[in-house]
Amino acid sequence: MIIGAGGVATVAAHKVAQNPEVFSEVMIASRTREKCVRLVEALQRKYAGKAMPTFSTAKVDADNVDELVALLQDFKPELVMNLALPYQDLTIMEACLRAGVHYLDTANYEPRDEAHFEYSWQWAYMDRFREAGLTAILGCGFDPGVSGIYTAYAAKHHFDEIQYLDIVDCNAGNHHKAFATNFNPEINIREITQKGLYYEDGKWIETEPLEIHQPITYPNIGPRESYLLHHEELESLVKNYPSIRRARFWMTFGQQYLTYLDCIQNLGMSRIDELEYEAPLADDSGKTVKVKIVPLQFLKAVLPNPQDLGENYDGETSIGCRIRGLKDGKERSYYVYNNCSHEAAYRETGMQGVSYTTGVPAMIGAMMLLKGIWKKPGVWNVEDFDPDPFMEQLNVQGLPWHEVFDGDLEV
Ligand code: NDP
Repeated sequence: MIIGAGGVATVAAHKVAQNPEVFSEVMIASRTREKCVRLVEALQRKYAGKAMPTFSTAKVDADNVDELVALLQDFKPELVMNLALPYQDLTIMEACLRAGVHYLDTANYEPRDEAHFEYSWQWAYMDRFREAGLTAILGCGFDPGVSGIYTAYAAKHHFDEIQYLDIVDCNAGNHHKAFATNFNPEINIREITQKGLYYEDGKWIETEPLEIHQPITYPNIGPRESYLLHHEELESLVKNYPSIRRARFWMTFGQQYLTYLDCIQNLGMSRIDELEYEAPLADDSGKTVKVKIVPLQFLKAVLPNPQDLGENYDGETSIGCRIRGLKDGKERSYYVYNNCSHEAAYRETGMQGVSYTTGVPAMIGAMMLLKGIWKKPGVWNVEDFDPDPFMEQLNVQGLPWHEVFDGDLEV
């Protein structure tokens, strides 16, 4: 069962449809059922005449555990792919436990009233999933997701000791809009406007938002100003690879995007607390009523929908891991990355590259679980599993990777 029918879910559904030998029956369930129906119709048109899974749709409020449990008990899926929003992670995990279903997501839990992410809330489910014999795979998009798998692959094949890890995420695409976010605007703006954080010598070091930046050169793209952000996979990676001395995450932003973001913040539109707003009644009586609004949620309603950006999006993304450490007593550097074209992603799935680079790994994670390759009771991050079969599928499913040994990492 796929929960959500947004950009990432759309790509994952296309990839599921392309792999009918693994996925036989699929339900797409989301808050707005019409979106699920439209998605299934698009799949049926695109893959007409080809073998594909049987698709069905349902409406579900994933904030409501009882509603989820009833749907899961009725459809009886083996796995839930949670491609809704990070707010729903805990309710969906809870429902999976009650209904005996495996779980996968692409972003860690965030409380609605606090722009803060950490794994502790989801790791707390470890014993319950283990006792129930169920597997939960956390953070199986690109970053988090492939970034952890790249690191696990590097640790398995190329290093005895990883010491420095820099995850570098560049979007050199152009959607030809003045301002738009590439995935859910509310989640995206919450992530970027919070303080930066990185790990060094056993400690977490906090920075002001976007305080640290430097140009980094991306393959086939060139130098782009890259900003240090806190990103969730750093938390699990430094725990799983204790030899890491420093771990950082970098993301590129264009000057225009940052100028708009600054204005949005200065205007108070990135606030996530509730305000009272005097709204006219819909009955033309001229009377008003006091309603509560969250400025960032209101802003989401007026910004371009990330799902509609694909059509005019050109350029590409480039995401990878730059790693330094020791192999056979010698220092070595390693860079592993994928470049993804927005236009190619749109031609295949109708979505832009950021949804594509997230939805494809989500499908591969589901494939790993359903084939029994990544199945162990408990709650796990992707680097807790064997990276090799996943890396093999990345090449098959549209996200090929490339390696550079002992090059200049710049970071
Ligand atoms: P969208 O906003 O496009 O889609 C979210 C979907 O979830 C919508 O269909 C929405 O329904 C549905 N939804 C929201 N709330 C509920 C609810 N209470 N019950 C049921 N359905 C609900 O987001 P994206 O597709 O861009 O992102 C999906 C996820 O992927 C997010 O968690 C995001 O953080 C994550 N992500 C991860 C990345 C990675 O590399 N790891 C990168 C990019 C995104 P409706 O249509 O009614 O609004």
